[in-house]
Amino acid sequence: MFLRMAVFLVCPKCDESSVVERLPVEACPECGTPYPTQARLAAEAALIRSQATKPGLLVVGQMLSSMGGGILLSVFVLAAIGRGQLTLFGEQVTGMEFIGRAGPTLGSIGILLAVIAVGLSRNARWTRPLMIAVWAIPVVNGLLRLATGHFGEGTLIIPFVISVIALPMSVVYLYRRENVIRYFDTLKRADETKPA
Ligand SMILES: [Zn+2]
Repeated sequence: MFLRMAVFLVCPKCDESSVVERLPVEACPECGTPYPTQARLAAEAALIRSQATKPGLLVVGQMLSSMGGGILLSVFVLAAIGRGQLTLFGEQVTGMEFIGRAGPTLGSIGILLAVIAVGLSRNARWTRPLMIAVWAIPVVNGLLRLATGHFGEGTLIIPFVISVIALPMSVVYLYRRENVIRYFDTLKRADETKPA
């Protein structure tokens, strides 16, 4: 992505506004007055964040998260207002039954996906643990059902198996891949530069 972000700073002395394009941000190019620390740090943080290159798989992940989150959350909205035929494991259920039974896992995955999509679109670094969590939920859920002896419904086996495979892969991708590490390190630097 070669989107360049322009950061504008207005000089407190001469009122000249200038576009800041590279680090470090120091003083007004017109009159040489140093920018106030808060404004300088905010501009530097914005510049650093805009220079972070989002890895390709995260761009795809952002699209899939917003789609998946949107679909899951709208299913819950439909269930809540009592629209549509709801089936859970081949069984007809009412909206409230659906929410009660699918809510804890599917609902939390839907919310997480939506939050991840927003976070990735804003280059927020807290998306990293959330992307692990979204795969961990079905794994933990499946293991709990195995442990309590009712893994039951066959339809749950496929998402469970996919998540069991995807969980370690996402850990490796998010915490071991060089370009991904660089991306999150850059975001961390932006967060640390931002004025408190
Ligand atoms: Zn000035």
